[in-house]
Amino acid sequence: MPPDRSSDPHISRLAAKKRPAVRYVIAFLSVFCLLLVAFITWDAWQARKQRLADTATVTSNMALALAAQGESTIRVVDTVLAGVVERIEHDGLDKTDRQRLRTHLRNMVSQVDELHGLFVYGADGSWVVTSLDQPMGGNNSDRAYFRHHRVSKDRGVYVGLPVRSRSTNVWILPVSRRLNNPDGSFGGVVLGSIRVDYFSQLYERFDTGQSGTILLMHDNGTLIYRHPFDEQLVGSDVTKGSIYRIYQEQGPVGSAMLRSYIDGVERLYSYRHFDGFPLIVGTAMAKDEILAKWWRSTMVLVGVITVIIAALAGFGWRLARQFVIRDNLEKELVSARAVLQQDNRELAHLADNDVLTGIANRRRFEYELELEKKRAGRNGSPLSLVLVDVDYFKRYNDTYGHVAGDDCLRRVAAVIRDSLGRPTDLAARYGGEEFAVLLPGTDAHGARNVAEHVRLAVMQAAIPHASNPPGVVTISAGVCTMRFTSGDDTDPTLLVERADALLYRAKQSGRNRVRSDDEEEEKHDSAQPGQAARHA
Ligand code: GH3
Ligand code: MG
Ligand code: MG
Repeated sequence: MPPDRSSDPHISRLAAKKRPAVRYVIAFLSVFCLLLVAFITWDAWQARKQRLADTATVTSNMALALAAQGESTIRVVDTVLAGVVERIEHDGLDKTDRQRLRTHLRNMVSQVDELHGLFVYGADGSWVVTSLDQPMGGNNSDRAYFRHHRVSKDRGVYVGLPVRSRSTNVWILPVSRRLNNPDGSFGGVVLGSIRVDYFSQLYERFDTGQSGTILLMHDNGTLIYRHPFDEQLVGSDVTKGSIYRIYQEQGPVGSAMLRSYIDGVERLYSYRHFDGFPLIVGTAMAKDEILAKWWRSTMVLVGVITVIIAALAGFGWRLARQFVIRDNLEKELVSARAVLQQDNRELAHLADNDVLTGIANRRRFEYELELEKKRAGRNGSPLSLVLVDVDYFKRYNDTYGHVAGDDCLRRVAAVIRDSLGRPTDLAARYGGEEFAVLLPGTDAHGARNVAEHVRLAVMQAAIPHASNPPGVVTISAGVCTMRFTSGDDTDPTLLVERADALLYRAKQSGRNRVRSDDEEEEKHDSAQPGQAARHA
């Protein structure tokens, strides 16, 4: 039995390697999965870029809206200041009814939300009129805005740096205009102050997420307001801050993604310089927050794709396995067929050949005898048979043992087979120590020669046989030749019977000899010359 190799992993791997269909399935699925991953990655990357671009648009618009609100705040205050300046310059500071002016200032402050207070300072910085209840007597000539107006003839509005109010101690943003005397000389300053925390109301309506900010700064880099509000930071220098750095690079309007040097958080910044005022408003949103939603949907997508790829891999594996199993089955089938054919050949050999001697057996002999009889009938050619029997073989067995007897039979069979000259001659073991030699197309004379040749060959093989008078193994043979006609129904075993009878005579007349029917006929013919015979 050949070994069962169906479960041999080496075979399976070989089959997988050799089978093109398996390679195609694996290659197709791999390429499909790679393309899928590439497409999803590209799509997710595009979505991320789009999300950042959309947010940049939103934050830019937010900066625009913040700047517009800031500008309108300053403009409202400036309008009030311009009115006060016009009134004082028209009436002259000395002639102005201070009580009425004070009432006017107080009305303005109460009507205009943005205003914290209104102040009129004389040319020496002394408080002339204020909207406050505090007693007069202060002097603001040291303030930056005052010094600015004293030296600058510019009649426009001036937005100063945030300062702590001398009157209320809160952080204010000073917005001021210069007062001129009728001759054009410096006559003082009108100041409107905006509470820095006023911008809280303004900016807290804008949603910048959890770690986003809104910054209002002077364009020299001084922080005015930061949302969420932290009083500690008012007036601090933010020239190193992200917005100020982008502003210096990009100009009045811009946006960029930068990592904050303070908290290390990456943010998307958008800012805008005020139109007509030295102020910048900027907004920032944390990148992580901007991309949080994108991350969530991308993770869901990655999960779905992973499941799809796993399913495809499973499907491909099963398919490849099916191919391999089929290949193995085919291989097994082929090898089983080969084994079967070999078995059949062996069976056929066994059916036709003698197990001990290897030459044809009796079954084959009888089959060939029938066949050759018919052929001889058709051809009109003679058919001869030599029946061979080993002399005193019983004694041989008795002397040398049965195993040696078997070996002797093998040697005798080989000698007989090798003595035959024609390919059509057939040597067969007829039974026991008897052999039959079928000689198609051989006449009586030729057959007798063959028998004699076999007899001598056996003797010359010189197989020792102490119980046989010649001292070696010898044979006796009976030779018979017959002719048949076409459609002849004569039983061919008649040939065997006659050869056997002749063999018996050979034994009778002393063994180690050949008796053939032609010599018998010669004798017979000389005794009874008129008798016809079918013998050749
Ligand atoms: P004869 O000269 O008259 O033929 O004497 P014989 O002893 O050969 O005659 P007989 O037919 O009495 O004996 C044949 C013997 O051959 C009997 C048997 O033991 C032996 N024999 C038959 N077949 C085999 C075989 O296959 N192997 C062996 N070793 N001996 C066999
Ligand atoms: Mg015998
Ligand atoms: Mg014998």
